[in-house]
Parts: sequence; structure tokens; C-alpha cells
Amino acid sequence: MTTTSPRPTTLAGDRRRFAGPVDPRTSTLTPLDATQVRLTGGFWAEKQQLNSDVVLRHCEDWMERIGWIRNFDLAAAGRDQPDEEWPHSGIEFVDSEVYKLLEGMAWELGRQHDPDLQRRYDDLVERVSGAQDDDGYLHTSFGRPWQRARWSDLEWGHELYSMGHLLQAVVAAERTGTGPRLVEVGRRLAEHLWREFGPEGRVAICGHPEIEVALAELGRALDEPRWVELARLFVDRRGRGLLAEIEYGAEYFQDDRPVREADVLRGHAVRALYLAAGALDVAVETRDDELADAVRRQWEATVAHRTYVTGGMGSHHQDEAFGADHELPPDRAYSETCAGIASTMLSWRLLLADGDARYADLIERTLLNVVLASPREDGHAFFYTNTLHQRTEGTVPDELEVNARALSSLRAPWFEVSCCPTNVARTLASVEQYFATRTDDGVQLHQYGSYDVDVELPDGTPVALSVASGYPFDGRVEVTWREATDREVELTLRVPSWTEGAAVTLIAPDGEVSRHATSTVVVRRAFAAGDVVVLDLPTRASWVHPDPRIDAVRGQVAVQRGPLVLALESVDLPSGSVADVLVDTRVAPVTTPTGARVALTRSWTRPTPWPYGQPVAATVEQLGRVDLVPYASWGNRGPSTMRVWLPVGEGRG
Ligand SMILES: [Zn+2]
Repeated sequence: MTTTSPRPTTLAGDRRRFAGPVDPRTSTLTPLDATQVRLTGGFWAEKQQLNSDVVLRHCEDWMERIGWIRNFDLAAAGRDQPDEEWPHSGIEFVDSEVYKLLEGMAWELGRQHDPDLQRRYDDLVERVSGAQDDDGYLHTSFGRPWQRARWSDLEWGHELYSMGHLLQAVVAAERTGTGPRLVEVGRRLAEHLWREFGPEGRVAICGHPEIEVALAELGRALDEPRWVELARLFVDRRGRGLLAEIEYGAEYFQDDRPVREADVLRGHAVRALYLAAGALDVAVETRDDELADAVRRQWEATVAHRTYVTGGMGSHHQDEAFGADHELPPDRAYSETCAGIASTMLSWRLLLADGDARYADLIERTLLNVVLASPREDGHAFFYTNTLHQRTEGTVPDELEVNARALSSLRAPWFEVSCCPTNVARTLASVEQYFATRTDDGVQLHQYGSYDVDVELPDGTPVALSVASGYPFDGRVEVTWREATDREVELTLRVPSWTEGAAVTLIAPDGEVSRHATSTVVVRRAFAAGDVVVLDLPTRASWVHPDPRIDAVRGQVAVQRGPLVLALESVDLPSGSVADVLVDTRVAPVTTPTGARVALTRSWTRPTPWPYGQPVAATVEQLGRVDLVPYASWGNRGPSTMRVWLPVGEGRG
């Protein structure tokens, strides 16, 4: 048991203000911080609680046990004897996992005071700080006489990538007031990077984008435009062939075309998405409309042609990359958890910049169907990749061993490259900050669940409301005003794109009922305390048909229930295999409390030595109604096979 209490609402005696991970200088929508939007219960609060109770500690314990944190101790202890080799643990970018843990801890501490967590955080900050060199450089894998020289492997070394994650942890420390010592470390590091890579420094970039989005936010957080300028240099240098040739081509690390000239995201998915997020930050801060338009254009083309129904991105295992347009094989979906998080980061920045609900739609889809698919129900294991079709059951991973990335159909406790668990941790620790925003005239609710919003509009008008919903399973969203607004304000509610064609019912405080089909509904009035606005979104299960150009799923359908993409798992099948099932689409799916029930048949043919030739008569067996579960919860009941896309067949036996 830990003792926790809510944070104070201001940083006493401090010029800084609380803010979340993204705080643009100018935007259409203004983000809210952790004191202004708070989860109060239900689905999302449970996920966040699992993160604070289990996931953060899990990441910390693993990195302590396998020496990734100790790398910093050894680096600190060896500073006076750099020639003396010490055993570095893990691959060259494991520092970044410690930084993402620090970021997650800071967001957690920003929400609630927890003396035990603060002590662990302070201790970790101390250990990381001790490894910083006198000139500000900080990395445990490079620069000592027995290691590779600093900046000697910009293609694969991930030095700037790791430092970018440190700077994001610094932003969290600054904005939550939790770690002034870490902020000083960040400043010294940024100064070092300015000397090395600034206008007077070397013209170079890192193989893995991340430093761009980090520096831009550091500039915002510290109100020091120099760091935005350094981010701009890194963004503008990209796409000019500065990195050496590699087997996957320059496209792999987006060095094939300048950001402002590209039309679609391509290459390694996480790299492409982090870069786009950083480029948008730079565009917003420097009022570079051409660059912002390029990012918008790339987002649109990528969503239209290169995104899985879950919101997942990346269909190549070999290079963890986007495929060509419509190359979205469900069984080879890479759909890395980190790509889902990076996509959410990008969409959030676009939403703040433009206010367009489409971005919030993709955030919803991706959070619920990619990011939340990663952690196991108990928070002690994670999916790295998120396939949409698991053909073999796989084996139970060893709970004490470090796993390769995608060994099994089951989630693994830790990976050799363990970017995803810590990314989940920092995202869940700050997830409520994607839920709502404000303008001068009111508030906008983008994501639904149970949470409170308490914010003062710039003219002092208070907005205090409670959102209550059984989302994502129940589409009824009740917004209760706790305080009167002394003037007319706007309450804007997103109508998710999956309700297309369905009537959305809105009940305003005076009982007026209206039906809507647009992407947002706005209620404008002077609200009285106790006023209730109800948005009723139909969450019944329905078929989802793919664009016919997505060859790999042609002739198949998926089922979506509200915002949740559903999946068929073999543990729910009497035949025990998803390989030969067909779905009868003449029978509408029946909505169940958390999923749907569909009519399935099983089609099988006599085995032949050669599986091609003339049509062979198949025997069809009725399987009756079978339950589909939310995709994000699959794999929690032991080894199984699974598929999201179901081949359409007839029900005849
Ligand atoms: Zn990852």
C-alpha cells in the first residue's frame, strides 16, 4: 500500500505551470494539464491504475535486475578511469528505456503525490545524473576508450534517439515540478547538442528520429527557442542523404526525401511517426505552413492507404516498416505498439493545431485497439507487435527471460529491444491528457470515459463538469455541469466516425433532443449547475468491409462494436482453430456486453498433396453462434490462434 494524495493545483511559488506532454505556444485547441482533467473511475481509470500499481514497477524491476539501470552507476563510477572496461548490459539504446520510465514516473507524480514513488524517482534521477560527462554528453554505450567513439555510428547507434527520450523525461520533470535535478541535466545536454549539431556544429542527423520532437517540446517547456531551432535544423537536414546507405535504403530512416516534400509516411514506422510529430511541432512553433501542410498530407495518405483497421501501422517485419499502399496483410501485421503510441502523439499534435475531429478518431481507434492490446491483463507482459491474425498458438514465454521481439502468440514480460513496455507506461501515466481541450469559448471532449474537467477559460469563466460513461462498451456519455457558467460557453462533443449512418442522440439540459451525423456536436448556452448533456452513441456491433484494394483481406469482414475492433479467438471455438472458419454475413452480429456473437461455419476439404488446381467441393459444418472478443483483450486466456478478418461464406451445411 502506498499513501497518495492529489497534487496541489499550482506549483506554489513557481513561475512554471503544469502542462502535459505537448504544450504548443499557439494552437486552435489548448491542451489541459493533469490538474484540469482527471480520470474518476471506470475503464480508463482502471487502466491507469494498473499502470501505476504494476507496469511502472514492472519496468523498473526488470531494468534493475538485468543491469540496464546499473549501466549508469558503472558509467558514473568509471568516470575517473575511462580506460577501465565495465560490463555494459543490453544493446546500445537501453538508456532510452530508463528515460521513458522516468517520464512515466513524472507524469504519475504530477497527478498524485506518492512518497514511495517520489523516492524511487529521485534515486533514479540521481543515478542517471551521475553518468553525465563534464561537457554535458550522456550515454552509457559510447565515448569511453573501450567503446565506440561518440557520434561514430549515427545510422544505428541511437545516441540522439536515446537523448531525445531523456529530454522528454526532462519535459515531464519540468512540467510536473518533480525533478529539478533532471531539468539541469537536460539543459546541460541540450547545450552540448547545440555545440555539436547547432548552426556552428556538424551537419548530421540520427538514424532514429526522436530528438526532433523532444527538443521542440524542451524549447516550449523551458521557454527557450534555441531548442526549437535545433529541432528545426534536424528536421530540415533530413531527406538529403546525410546518413550512409543501408540495406533497407534511405527510406528506412526517412532520409530519402525532405519532410516538406514527402507525400506519405514510409520506411520504419516508429521513426516516420516520431519525425512527423517533431516536424509538426517545429512547423507550429516557427509558423511554417508549408511544413505543417506536408505533415497533414502525409497523415491523410497514410491513414487512407497504410493503416490497419485497428489503427496499427507498419506491415513489414524485416524493417519494421510501412508497406506500399494497401499492403496490409493481417497475419504479417507488424503494427508495433510503439508505432501506435507514435501515431497517437502525431494525431494529438494535429488535433491541437487544427481542431479536426478526425485526428481524435484515430487516437481513439489506436489507443483502444493497439496501445491497450499491448499490456497483459495483469500488467506483467506485453505485445511488441500486434498481429491481426495469429496462425499458431505459440508457447508460453519464460517469465524470467528476456525475449526476442515476437516469439509467441502470448505477451512477453521483457524484450531485448524493450521499447514498447516503457512506452506503454509513459502513455498510460498521461493518457487523460488526450481526452479534452479548451478554447476561449468552451471545452471540447475528444475521448469518452469517466473523468472531471475543471478549467478556467481565459476570461475567468469557470468550466467544471463531470463526464460519466461506460465507454468503450456503452456509448451513453453523460456530462454534468458542477458549476454555473456566468456566460454562454460551448461544449463540443466528438461524434466518432464509426457512428456513420447511425443516429446520434443528444439531449441538452432543457430536454431538447437533437440528432446529428456530423463529426462534432456543439451545445452553446449559459450552463446552470446540475445541467446535464447526454450524448448517446450507438455501439451495436456491425460488419466492417475493407477497401477492395487491400488484397490480403478481400472477401473478408471484420466486426466492430462501438470503438472496439473485435477478434475471433480459438479458445472460443469448438473446433479449436480459426484457420477454416467462415462467417455468415446474412445473420447480423448480435451485440454482447463486451463483444459480439456471429454465425460461423467451418469449411474443410479432403487434404490433397498439392493445394492448387480445380475447385474442390468443400464440406461445410455449422459452428453456430460464436463470441468475438475485443481485439485488445485477446491472448489473455492462454495460447490461442486469432483472427480479426473473417472470410465470408454461406451458412449452408
Ligand atoms: Zn516498441
